[in-house]
Amino acid sequence: MTPRTLTEAIRHYSNPQTCIDAVAALRWPDGCIVCPKCGAADRKHYWLDTQKRWKCYLCRKQFSVKVGTIFEDSLLGLDVWLTALWMLCNCKNGVSSYEIARATGIAQKSAWHVLQRLRLVLKDMREVALGEEGPVECDEVFVGPDPRRMHASRRLKMQTAITQRTHKVPVFGMLDRNTRQVRAQVVPNVRRETLQNAILENLAHGATVYTDQYTGYDKLAAQQFVHDTVNHMETYVRGQVHTQGIENFWSLLKRGLRGTYIAVEPFHLERYIDEQVFRYNNRIGHTDATRFQKALAQVAGKRLTWNDLTGKEQLPEEPF
Ligand SMILES: [Zn+2]
Repeated sequence: MTPRTLTEAIRHYSNPQTCIDAVAALRWPDGCIVCPKCGAADRKHYWLDTQKRWKCYLCRKQFSVKVGTIFEDSLLGLDVWLTALWMLCNCKNGVSSYEIARATGIAQKSAWHVLQRLRLVLKDMREVALGEEGPVECDEVFVGPDPRRMHASRRLKMQTAITQRTHKVPVFGMLDRNTRQVRAQVVPNVRRETLQNAILENLAHGATVYTDQYTGYDKLAAQQFVHDTVNHMETYVRGQVHTQGIENFWSLLKRGLRGTYIAVEPFHLERYIDEQVFRYNNRIGHTDATRFQKALAQVAGKRLTWNDLTGKEQLPEEPF
């Protein structure tokens, strides 16, 4: 049985064996389990039921389904991870560490770390260039906290940031009108060179680009793009030429940030954007269950540990 709702998912994944089977099925889709220590393939291991691990005949080492994934060095059970992942990919406006903590019974601080890891893995793989088949809407936006919704002590900190003009973070986004896929990233500034580089990195050669008339988008035609603009002083839509799609994504992003999140330091903001991008890019043609399966495949199907993800880089401290 596949769960359909959050309540069903929590019940379903409360069984440790169910979790192991779910992760194993996506990690080794052909059913051929491979020893992560020595690479020995199927039928070279046996299952130790009490320890919930396999033992490899060849290298004599034991391994669990978590080895070689981001779950590896976590003491938390897969039930917690899978429930958190379900909430992350299916709660439309995002989910907070407090909600994860309530649903799974773990401490809020642990929930915060779980969320950060999952977001990092959900980051779009960016294999295909945008704009192969249709126009791409490009736009930039400034995201920042709303001081009116803040605790006094934090507001004071913000005041300092505001006087130093560091409180708003620029984000650049691109929406492929044909595939309905979004890419978005924190950028250091919105200067022409920065925006052009992002476009060059992500768009197919010769793609059609729609933007507003911001001067940062000047000279795109010189970079072998077909560039058309809409003058927002006069109108928002001129036939096919508009940026309503990416602006719709911005409002989803901002709604999620406002409703759920408190801190928007650039590092954390990047993770929230990845999360929103994943939900946006997987909103059509999916049920909650299939969206979760896709996310889990992305998490479990990759041989990727926390150290691979971050290198030696330390995760910044929890904000607030
Ligand atoms: Zn082995």
